[in-house]
Amino acid sequence: MEQQLLERSENKCELCQSAASLKLYEVLPQSGRTEDNCIMICDKCLGQIEKTEALDVKHLNCLRTSIWSAVPGVQVVTWRLLHRLKDESWATESIEMMYMDDKTLAWAAAGLEEDSAGADEVYKDCNGQVLEAGNSVVLTKTLDVKGSSLSAKLGTVVKNIRLVEDNTDQIEGKIEGQTIVILTKYVRKQN
Ligand SMILES: [Zn+2]
Repeated sequence: MEQQLLERSENKCELCQSAASLKLYEVLPQSGRTEDNCIMICDKCLGQIEKTEALDVKHLNCLRTSIWSAVPGVQVVTWRLLHRLKDESWATESIEMMYMDDKTLAWAAAGLEEDSAGADEVYKDCNGQVLEAGNSVVLTKTLDVKGSSLSAKLGTVVKNIRLVEDNTDQIEGKIEGQTIVILTKYVRKQN
C-alpha cells in the first residue's frame, strides 16, 4: 500500500509537496484502508492535522493547490483544514471552489462533527463510535509502550476499559496484566 501511495504522490507530501519524512496517514473515520482513504503526508502537515502543532497559516497556503487533488482522502483533509482556517478569506474561497461528490463531502463533515463532540466529554473510537467504561476495544495500531517490553500489537483486544478523566483522547486498559494509557484514535470498539 505504502509503495502504491508513494508512486501516486511521486514521493511528495500530498498536501504541501514537501519530500521530507513522508508518512502514511489514514483519513478517519473509515472501515478499512484503501488507496482512496490513505494519503502520504509530511511531519509538518501531520502536526497540523493532528493538532499537535499550532495552525500555521503560511504553511497551509499549500491547501490552495491541494483542493484540486483527485484523491478523496486529500480532498477530505484539505476541506477539514480549510474549515479550521475559516477566519482567512482565502480559505473560505477555497472551500467554495472545491468540487467533492456527496459521499466524500459527508465523510469530510463526519470528521468535523467528531472534533466538536470532543468538547462535550464524549469519548470516541477511530470510527466515531462512543466509548464507555467497561467496553472492549481492539487496537488498530501496534503501540510502543515506553519503558516496557510489552507487546501491544495491532489487533490486541483490550477488555473492560476505563475513561481517563478530563481527557477524551485517552482511555486506560490492561494488556498482559499491565495498565496502560491508550489514545482513543488507535482503538476500535468491539461490539
Ligand atoms: Zn506536507
